[in-house]
Amino acid sequence: MARGPPPPPPAGGGGSAPPPPRPPARAGGGPPPAAAFPAWRDTPISKRAAILFRAAQLLEDRADSVARELTREEGKGLALARDEVLRSAQTIRFYAVEGQSFTGETFVNDDPDMVVYSQREPLGVVTVISPWNFPISIPARKIAPALITGNTVVFKPSSDAPLTGYRLTEAFVEAGLPPGVLNFVTGPASKVGQAITTAAAVRAISFTGSTAAGEQIHRGAGLTTRTQMELGGKNPLIVLADADLDRAVELAVKGGFSLSGQACTGTSRLLVDRKVLAAFTDKLLARMRKLTIGNGLEGNFDLGPLATRKQLDTVLSYIALGKQEATHLIGGERLDGPGFERGYYVTPALFTDVTQQMRIAREEIFGPVLALIAVDGYDEAIACANDTEYGLSAAIATSDARYAHRFARDIQAGTVKINRTTTGNLINAPFGGLKSSSTSTFRESGRVGLEFYTQIKTVYRAG
Ligand code: NAD
Repeated sequence: MARGPPPPPPAGGGGSAPPPPRPPARAGGGPPPAAAFPAWRDTPISKRAAILFRAAQLLEDRADSVARELTREEGKGLALARDEVLRSAQTIRFYAVEGQSFTGETFVNDDPDMVVYSQREPLGVVTVISPWNFPISIPARKIAPALITGNTVVFKPSSDAPLTGYRLTEAFVEAGLPPGVLNFVTGPASKVGQAITTAAAVRAISFTGSTAAGEQIHRGAGLTTRTQMELGGKNPLIVLADADLDRAVELAVKGGFSLSGQACTGTSRLLVDRKVLAAFTDKLLARMRKLTIGNGLEGNFDLGPLATRKQLDTVLSYIALGKQEATHLIGGERLDGPGFERGYYVTPALFTDVTQQMRIAREEIFGPVLALIAVDGYDEAIACANDTEYGLSAAIATSDARYAHRFARDIQAGTVKINRTTTGNLINAPFGGLKSSSTSTFRESGRVGLEFYTQIKTVYRAG
């Protein structure tokens, strides 16, 4: 593994850069992933699983130190970072177990002398490309199913958070992964990206990131290269007139501002019934005034810094746009005074009088910015919620069971939440978007997450 150079020092979200990592156990050695594939494919499944179990344990043992690095690199609070590391270990264990019973079917047929069955086989070399916002849990949920099913992997983390991905790779290598099976590659997407997505040996690409980059990679992939693209979102929370408003406010705050709004499933549009708009807005403003913001290494704050300078510029530009398009209620200030010198801090922002035609209601901002849109009743709320190119996650706050059922049917989103935040998903349940939020070819996460990494042969055997 680790056929590329060690990763560069990380770009800080929340603090100063940690020292460069130690070289991994097998740095610089090993065959190319295509050459490593046959031996890994033929390694008994119990041995592959044992390596995954060991990698999970190593990550758990190192959860505190990896979490600290993650916070320094990406900016989310220490508790969230630790959860992410532990969740990644859980994900690896989940696939170590599920992968051992993931197999084909047998088929009844008229010939008593013939057995017909399907078998699942690995694809070969799989490219995994991940974003910075979940720098360990997203690669873990791609790499673990790829490895347990017998594929070899080329893994490129985001250049904005490479160290955490490196720690994940290191755990797999130290757990006993043979050389060439997991290959950690860093470098600019413009140079490295093309090589690892268009090489003839690459049989599949699992990508999570922006819709623009995903579309480009998807179009550039060859006929025999399978793609799984998990992309952007513009996720709504509908608040009906019958909703418990205090609870709805908590859903808005947690969905919109945890991770400083930098979650693909983060809430960005609040579609609120006009009958309760004033009351909801008052409660939300009161709640927002109590939110805390600071360095996640120094305390337990509601929001941390934005991850990169680019993120800061993007978020501030949308806040400026929102002030022209709509009515600005609170927040959106850049904090750079005492205590905030070493990070890209922006206070959580709220706009009202927003319409679905405005850019702040249509484009993914990926920051702590919420847009309030007034709607008259359920039907208008659904029409408005669905009036977007995206379809990643959507939530409704209601106490009426009829609307809860209708919402699950009517909403165009891959993740549907009823009286829950748009954010968050189980590791054992399928995850993915609809419309431009995903290629919708294969789902990630859960048992179905194994399907992407295998192909099916049907065998007819007589005698
Ligand atoms: P990004 O698209 O800029 O980068 C994602 C990854 O792709 C990085 O590793 C980057 O280096 C690489 N990349 C970019 N262009 C490439 C190319 N042409 N060829 C190969 N690799 C390329 O996204 P980001 O800023 O890192 O992450 C934020 C985006 O990710 C948001 O749009 C967010 O919604 C999305 N996201 C989606 C999910 C999901 O599950 N749907 C989860 C997290 C983040």
